[in-house]
Amino acid sequence: MLKMNNISKIYRTDLVETHALSGVNLTVDEGEFIAVTGPSGSGKTTFLNITGLLETFEEGEYILDGEDVSQLSDKHLSRLRNEKIGFIFQGFNLIADLNLYDNIEVPLIFRGINQKERKQRIEESLELVGLGSRANHYPAQLSGGQQQRVAIARALAGKPRFLLADEPTGNLDTMMARQVMELLQDINRQGTTLIMVTHDNELAQRAHRNIQILDGQVSDIAKSQLTDLAV
Ligand code: ADP
Ligand code: ADP
Repeated sequence: MLKMNNISKIYRTDLVETHALSGVNLTVDEGEFIAVTGPSGSGKTTFLNITGLLETFEEGEYILDGEDVSQLSDKHLSRLRNEKIGFIFQGFNLIADLNLYDNIEVPLIFRGINQKERKQRIEESLELVGLGSRANHYPAQLSGGQQQRVAIARALAGKPRFLLADEPTGNLDTMMARQVMELLQDINRQGTTLIMVTHDNELAQRAHRNIQILDGQVSDIAKSQLTDLAV
């Protein structure tokens, strides 16, 4: 479970202060699938980055699986992130010079997972996303949808409890977006909590619960209210 109490985030530069998040309260249960919508600049990425322990915050309390993360050292935070969180980005973020196997292996090496275990996880996760026969291929040899499936395999190989996706289908055509979405939903049905930022209301409709971010404030929103306003 994940719980945020009154979380605020301010970005400061020499001239301006941006209140990216203001007083966010949210509880996410184990196994939920939550879609996050909201206009550009409303705080969605900031929210996801704080949720995934990529960014800190100045105010409030964040409890992740029973642990109060506001008090943790950077080292402890990165360990927690590696153990519990998987990320998927709009731009896939694969390394062009590495084949699919090696792309998935890199974060596992960083985590100190032994070679035998790495091999098993890589093969399993590539199989799961339907790319078991492509381990030696390079990202450029794949379609966008396939590349995103590799990124999903890379996240899954970490065995995350929480999968955080920032516009995972934003660079894909409609057909591929649907396929990637079905894969994410399958993963969620197996028990991984899924939090996904999307501009696509049709995809957002598939979530168990929808939240909207407006000017750094988070609120629940009914599916019937998912309109083009979110764009
Ligand atoms: P993030 O910061 O999470 O990547 P943004 O909201 O900043 O998301 O949008 C990322 C990119 O998508 C930006 O280049 C933005 O202009 C573009 N974008 C924003 N809203 C839409 C939309 N409704 N449809 C398509 N592209 C969008
Ligand atoms: P979204 O993902 O909804 O487009 P973001 O979370 O990316 O929104 O941004 C929320 C607000 O915080 C925006 O006004 C953005 O310009 C600002 N912001 C985001 N990241 C930074 C940063 N590193 N430094 C300064 N301002 C930032």
